[in-house]
Amino acid sequence: MTYYADLTPYTYDTDRSSPGTGQTAGPGETAGPGETDGPASRAFRGLPQVNVGWLARVRPYAKGDAPPGLVDALKGMRHTHRVEQTRGYHFCPWCAARLLGLVGARDNCPRGSAEIRVIGEGVVYAAPELITHYVEAHGYAPPAEFVRAVLASSG
Ligand SMILES: [Zn+2]
Repeated sequence: MTYYADLTPYTYDTDRSSPGTGQTAGPGETAGPGETDGPASRAFRGLPQVNVGWLARVRPYAKGDAPPGLVDALKGMRHTHRVEQTRGYHFCPWCAARLLGLVGARDNCPRGSAEIRVIGEGVVYAAPELITHYVEAHGYAPPAEFVRAVLASSG
């Protein structure tokens, strides 16, 4: 999957690279009928979206111990804050590399196809479903403001 630095603007519409999906909404357009966004993502319209957790194996990322409750909160969000809008089906780059060449590797590799949205202060954080795995298995430390938003919205 593509690398996006944390807290950069989320540019889903403009960097979509798979032609022929029939979804041609441009930047700033609202989704029309037929979009599969859930109610959660509709509530985010109007707020700028920023990237969190779009890691790549060749890029350094912030590491640290996960704050108490973060992993559990993120796991819960896979259901409550999930949107189907997605940049594609992606595998964990580190686990994929480790499993390279092994029989059945694709089936055993952590993967995700959805994203989660978390409302922060004036922004919406757009993170891949795999962010939970990155935090739990690879020591990824998301930006503090994102962590705060996650813990706040999970109650
Ligand atoms: Zn992994």
